[in-house]
Amino acid sequence: MTNNATIDIAQRAKAMLSRFYGYSTFRPLQLEIITTAMARRDSVVLMPTGGGKSICYQMPALLSDGVVIVVSPLIALMKDQVTALTSNGIPAAAVNSMQTEEENRDILEQLFSGRVRILYISPERLLLEIDRWSRDLKISLFAIDEAHCISQWGHDFRPGYTQLSRIKALFPHVPVMALTATADRLTRDDIALQLRLDNPQLFIGSFDRPNISLRVMTNPGKTQRVNYICSMIDRYRSDSGIVYCLSRKSAEEMDKQLSGRGYRSVVYHAGLSVTERNQAQDRFINGEVQVVCATVAFGMGIDKSNIRWVVHNNMPRNIESYYQEIGRAGRDGAKAETVMFYSYADIATLQSFVDESGQQALNAEKLTRMKEYAEASLCRRRILLSYFNETVDHDCGNCDVCLNPPERIDGTVIVLKALSAIVRINGSAGITMLIDILRGATRQELIQRGYDKIKTYGAGRDLSFGEWNAYISQMIQLGLIDIAYNENNHLKITAYGCRILDSRGPVILAKYIPIERRSSRRKVVAESENIQLSPAERLLELLKDVREKLAKKEQVPPYIIFSDKALLEMVRTEPLDMEEFSRVEGVGERKTVKYWKPFVTAIRKFKGINENLGAGMSQEETLLLLNAGYDVNAIAEAKGIKPQTVYSHLSELINNDKLSDFSSIITREQYLRVMDVAKKHPDDFYVLLADEMPVGLPRVAVAISDFLLRKKGNS
Ligand code: ADP
Ligand code: ZN
Repeated sequence: MTNNATIDIAQRAKAMLSRFYGYSTFRPLQLEIITTAMARRDSVVLMPTGGGKSICYQMPALLSDGVVIVVSPLIALMKDQVTALTSNGIPAAAVNSMQTEEENRDILEQLFSGRVRILYISPERLLLEIDRWSRDLKISLFAIDEAHCISQWGHDFRPGYTQLSRIKALFPHVPVMALTATADRLTRDDIALQLRLDNPQLFIGSFDRPNISLRVMTNPGKTQRVNYICSMIDRYRSDSGIVYCLSRKSAEEMDKQLSGRGYRSVVYHAGLSVTERNQAQDRFINGEVQVVCATVAFGMGIDKSNIRWVVHNNMPRNIESYYQEIGRAGRDGAKAETVMFYSYADIATLQSFVDESGQQALNAEKLTRMKEYAEASLCRRRILLSYFNETVDHDCGNCDVCLNPPERIDGTVIVLKALSAIVRINGSAGITMLIDILRGATRQELIQRGYDKIKTYGAGRDLSFGEWNAYISQMIQLGLIDIAYNENNHLKITAYGCRILDSRGPVILAKYIPIERRSSRRKVVAESENIQLSPAERLLELLKDVREKLAKKEQVPPYIIFSDKALLEMVRTEPLDMEEFSRVEGVGERKTVKYWKPFVTAIRKFKGINENLGAGMSQEETLLLLNAGYDVNAIAEAKGIKPQTVYSHLSELINNDKLSDFSSIITREQYLRVMDVAKKHPDDFYVLLADEMPVGLPRVAVAISDFLLRKKGNS
């Protein structure tokens, strides 16, 4: 493609981005990926979940006149994407097994008539249709979403994907874009190979998701966990979150705990029937529940953009899964929180998964890396990103380590006390019992075992349970203590620990600082209690209510109307009329017209502005749409009014000199015809023309004629 063509595409793409999506700038790589597709070159795109992959393959549909075919294995996601696209005014449809055969055939017909610009389809169905397409359908791009499914090396191999090599065989000249959020080098190369891509351009986006905060809590107790989750729900009262659990049982238990405390919670795991699972997922997507307690089975195909927090009740088995799961939070780019509860007991369970798995060595290594992450005292995001081979040269400032950088202390005395206690009880206790011994607890089991008789009993009363917990964890990380996973997680002294005990230190530890609850945040309160909200928070709540009502009315999930990020932008910019509303980041043309009134009205009311929204507003809307390239019928449809009314708006706009390009409203022939008839029959030309042109058009012609006369008079 020539340089000029590229520039032209960049400009048009930017215009489309603002018009259809309401965004003012592309994210990194998006434009490059789009231009590559427009230059008809194959590509492999690696971007994290929420990185903005969809726009990369949707945009070519807006920039060219062929259709874009999107192959995706996730049916639930297809539906969501299609709703989101349609709500932005982009004609899209899906063909899949959730619809009747009749519906599917209907959509496939429409494909040929050009009424569908983006088609989502499962790989199996694509293979049934593709021969037919190769003859007479104009296709501008094939996008293969979740492309790692094609590779046996990937973690999610799907046999249906292997046949996709036929695309290139049948359509050698149509570009293919393969997209995935998870791919190591092996899988990446395999994707290109399996799809028979022709010298594909490789795009690797940053896996950084700076809006997601990271936190690990080591060995929290049961109540502490539940309390923490409740505080999350309270903080994000009108949004939702996910609690990931390792087992069905623990998911069910957590669900009970949360429901018991009056929160709207559902459970989701593979043990439920398909109907039950779909129900749970729907209720979550529609925002009826605040939290879903799920096993890892939950989340594939969840595109909900306003998940504000994710809790891992147990450590995941590897960093890939962890990253994908926390990545479900904050897809809209607004702030999101994640926390992982890390307990040594989990390690034993995870270790047994590894032992049973096919690729033991690899999985053991992955588990080790996960453990290292959990135990780290370095910026956690740096560890994550370096895991994905990204180099970062600064700390993130949004993880627990960055927020509470460890202060070093001389930990010799602490370490010696703990080590000596372990030696004296012969390594016969786990972490909780060891702490109880050190702190001189008097519980029955401890006394029964005679632990109160040893010399170090009560030697650590000066430290809290939390402090001991943290320091012993560090001693494990330092290799002074080992956990015998095969012996009820009892703590054992290592050879290195013995040497330290003999030489009496020294050992440096990171000082324990309890992470205070974020000061600016509300404290944990029941829902019914009154909560002090800042004005911005109050406005946000109001706008969320507006959004929820609209969502109910249109029977779509709230985030299809607007993302949280877009609402936050409204709170920040406080648009007071349609024009200002249209400039809000995340508000496209279609949604401006459809939604400006309820939102602007709410904002005006909130600000105490009582005067009515100007009566001319409806005309302004018409003008906005006209400038955006809508014709009269499309304007009427978008606004739900008669074409006749649109013509009367246009006449008014022309009379007020607000419109001077008439080419899309009336043809030269029509204009001349009106002038001609009007001259001969000045009193009833409206009636005479009623049969041959739309009602209202003659009036527009007269307005134009007046306009031209005025201009002449001026010059
Ligand atoms: P992915 O498919 O990579 O998981 P999406 O395409 O769903 O990610 O994008 C995630 C979110 O980011 C969506 O809410 C999307 O509207 C938003 N987004 C994408 N591109 C931009 C952009 N250029 N500016 C602002 N928001 C964007
Ligand atoms: Zn950090």
